Amino acid sequence: MVKPLYKYGKKRVITFSFDDGREQDEKLIPLLNKYSLKATFNLNGGRCRNDRFAKVTENGKFWVGSSELRDLYRGHEIASHSYLHKKINELSDEELEEDTIKDIETLKKAFGVEIRGYATPNGIRDKRMPAILKKHGICYERFTCREDTDMPFALPKDFLWWQPNPHFSYYAKDEGKKMIEDFFRTNEDLPCLYIWGHSYELELLDCKGSERWNGITDRYAYLEGLFENIAKRDDVWYATNIEIYDYITNLRRTRYDDTYIDNPTDIPIYFEINGKVIAAPPHSRFGV
Ligand SMILES: [Zn+2]
Repeated sequence: MVKPLYKYGKKRVITFSFDDGREQDEKLIPLLNKYSLKATFNLNGGRCRNDRFAKVTENGKFWVGSSELRDLYRGHEIASHSYLHKKINELSDEELEEDTIKDIETLKKAFGVEIRGYATPNGIRDKRMPAILKKHGICYERFTCREDTDMPFALPKDFLWWQPNPHFSYYAKDEGKKMIEDFFRTNEDLPCLYIWGHSYELELLDCKGSERWNGITDRYAYLEGLFENIAKRDDVWYATNIEIYDYITNLRRTRYDDTYIDNPTDIPIYFEINGKVIAAPPHSRFGV
């Protein structure tokens, strides 16, 4: 029996994604780091509300590429969330492409890293986006809800249609707690738990969508409880969105059945063979 595994031979992956880049990221990130959890932060280069992180120019506010800002997000992924957080379906073709390029370029300059992911603002699916994203080097597009709830932990077949698990307030509810238990119990191949939210929701108790919180007011304490529960598990890989994309894209190029493994990629790909974890070395083909 040959079963695919995640990086380092892990059975499961957990990833987080937080949108809009507000000052509450300054409290959220140390909490993620305390539990060695990994997240992707989806930022709007042109809509930065924290003046400490931005400077006002003639054209509006822009991110500052300060070392302080780079230090804060270090170890996590920076991804695009559009330049101005507009309703992208109301933009013309030219405006949409311009908004996308502007955000990628602004974030790239501010953080000194390649921008390879995109979370759609306002959860809008616009059929023009996949072509625009691919053209500008973006590998995945993340949405805010999931249609295939029968397979809650399945990876996307197409990463340009990546539907996460529920919002981070959900896991306080009985059905959310059950979802976490199911995730740690499932024997399906390559289960992924993908939790998303906004750091400002931890403090702005009456913000849009606050009914989701079901009366929880000490949201940092709730979140720390959630982190404590899911962190530091031996069989879990904690990864950013793009790390998952990169590993899975390589795994999907690897051919295998119960008699052989053929890994044509540049990275080791992990498998469980009759209960034993092995790493198929890059560019290797062998019988099992
Ligand atoms: Zn947003």
